[in-house]
Amino acid sequence: MEKNIHAHLEKHPFLAETALLHMTVAARVKEVVKPLDWELTIAEAKTMQTPLLQQKKWQQPAVEAAALALPIVLETLGDIEYPSRLVEAVAAFRTWGHKADKDTREAFFVQLLQGGGNLPELNPALLGILGWQILEALVPAKLKEHEFWQAASWRKNSCPICGRHPVLAHLRKEKEGRARFLTCDGCHTEWPFARVGCAYCGNEDLTQMHILEPEGLPAMRIDVCDACKSYIKTYNEEGQEDVYLTDWATLHLDMLGEEAGFTKKGSILLENS
Ligand SMILES: [Zn+2]
Ligand SMILES: [Zn+2]
Repeated sequence: MEKNIHAHLEKHPFLAETALLHMTVAARVKEVVKPLDWELTIAEAKTMQTPLLQQKKWQQPAVEAAALALPIVLETLGDIEYPSRLVEAVAAFRTWGHKADKDTREAFFVQLLQGGGNLPELNPALLGILGWQILEALVPAKLKEHEFWQAASWRKNSCPICGRHPVLAHLRKEKEGRARFLTCDGCHTEWPFARVGCAYCGNEDLTQMHILEPEGLPAMRIDVCDACKSYIKTYNEEGQEDVYLTDWATLHLDMLGEEAGFTKKGSILLENS
């Protein structure tokens, strides 16, 4: 993983600040937060209608664990060399983390899972990055794999774990041609979805779908939908999922989609960072 990302950053130095923040925070979070002991069988997953973290039974223990981890994670974030524009934001967040009681911290994670999670006077991008990285670290690796959700037949346009809409898609080579999977940028779960059509509005009229191809980057393309004016970044190779299925590492592709007049859906990253 590290090697791919570093080669990518050498080619795209403008991503360096974002990378520092995401990668350093992620490394600290992983030291502190271990995956929950979730036992979900494929048979159980097959009967699921609602994403796991949107069900009280799974949400409550996850939110409790996240709220416990938050102050410990914040404690470890003091010595990172942040971009100057973020120094105060990080300090404010750490102060909040020390003061907030358990209920307040739990309420923050519940709101985050409801698509909110903004706190007055705290930097929303930072809250989102840290909050979601903690939630992501709580999800067992097996439940993030596309094979699991393929077997469980989850084919909705929202993440089976947390319920977020995707920002990225992945075309994988399979025995009979290619299959499409969607990726969640909140918990980084990958799940199967219809090969053709818009992942947001369900439009299947191919005359209203087209592809933008970024110059010099054959591994990626942007699928756009004229019906709902959205786009989704699509990785069409294999081996560098860590780079090309990560929203922040592919932010330069968003410019292409936005310049062509399309809107990004399913992520908080672009508007806040
Ligand atoms: Zn998710
Ligand atoms: Zn659409």
